[in-house]
Amino acid sequence: LTNPDGSIGETIYGQMTKFAAEVGAVNLGQGAPGTEPPEELIEATAAAMRAGFNQYAPGQGFPQLLEAVAAQRSRDFGQNVSPDKVLYTAGATEGLTAAILALLPRGGSLVAFEPFYDSYPAAIAAAGGTLHTVPILPDGHGDFGPDWEAFDRVVAEVEPQIILVNTPHNPTGFIFTADDLARIGRAAASVDAWVLSDEVYEQLVLTEQGHVPPAVAIEDSARVVTVSSAGKSWNTTGWKIGWVIASPEVRQAVQTVKQFLSFTAGGPMQIGMADMLSGDSQFVAENRASLQARADVLVPACRTVPGAEVSTPRAGYFTVVDFSAVTDLDAFELNERLAREFSLVGIPVPALCRPGSPAYEAYRSSIRYSFCKSVADVDKGAQLFIALG
Ligand code: PMP
Ligand code: GLN
Repeated sequence: LTNPDGSIGETIYGQMTKFAAEVGAVNLGQGAPGTEPPEELIEATAAAMRAGFNQYAPGQGFPQLLEAVAAQRSRDFGQNVSPDKVLYTAGATEGLTAAILALLPRGGSLVAFEPFYDSYPAAIAAAGGTLHTVPILPDGHGDFGPDWEAFDRVVAEVEPQIILVNTPHNPTGFIFTADDLARIGRAAASVDAWVLSDEVYEQLVLTEQGHVPPAVAIEDSARVVTVSSAGKSWNTTGWKIGWVIASPEVRQAVQTVKQFLSFTAGGPMQIGMADMLSGDSQFVAENRASLQARADVLVPACRTVPGAEVSTPRAGYFTVVDFSAVTDLDAFELNERLAREFSLVGIPVPALCRPGSPAYEAYRSSIRYSFCKSVADVDKGAQLFIALG
């Protein structure tokens, strides 16, 4: 659960954002961009507001958005998607929660990779299910990999109803290969589980490797439920434009749950985003280049701290810094001390793990830093690391 003591409290992201403001520290915590969406998106959304898209959208979402998402998945990833497979959700968070509530029976099991996004355990708890985890561990050379032996063992032992995979992965930036995903697909087939895929960083791969959606790599794609959103790629995390893609039957089941969570949200933003997803905007490519440039400032600065093990971000918004060779403090204590003494706040990685798990221990002294912040904040953060070094 969210807090180290096992309780569900305010998310670590909310806590750290408040803490940074309180102590006047540079906030490299929450993955909320310090850069703006494209002007053309704001104009398209304003035009939708003026054109009267201001009341409840249809429960499935505006057809323009459903068509644009279907076209985008086919164009970018070769995923065969028709609009009847797409559901608008209020961000990926609502999509994940609605899918878990729809597909996980009370008393059921879900296997996820750890560290994980903190809404997973809360949604599983709401569904009355149990979370089992498989660690994604540092390889000692700045990269990461899942513990496949643990994966095979856990899936065989608990026979989960859902296997949840987040690729590219927050916080490590690990990108599952087509082979990795095929392996997950075979494991899912062996116990007849759904594969729930969280792909919010799909557009933000910073290497040549390329994002492969589980629905493309897994032969029996009918068992895959894809969740993604526009927030990270388009610097619109506050708009909550997300989607679920599944067979029409599963999409309908998820929609049945979703209608009683938010019913619907973001009407004019759905229309504006539909315009962007179906257009030929260069924005996402520019955003990727800009993220890489900010990573190129922050990561080398982190590496000036003697003994710090700094990850090379392959995708997404984050670098993970392991301070275990530098200090005996755990990540919570160290983050607080760095905030008070060096004016720098990140996210303790154990906050994204289950207390006492192998991942929790492996990341005991690791802190996640976001380079999606403004150029000024990333520069300030980098200067603080250099001073710390
Ligand atoms: N999954 C992961 C892995 C995330 O990092 C986040 C945070 N954006 C989400 C889901 C939630 O996405 P959204 O803001 O679209 O709800
Ligand atoms: N997903 C974002 C992150 O990992 C935070 C989202 C939130 O604040 N709930 O930083």
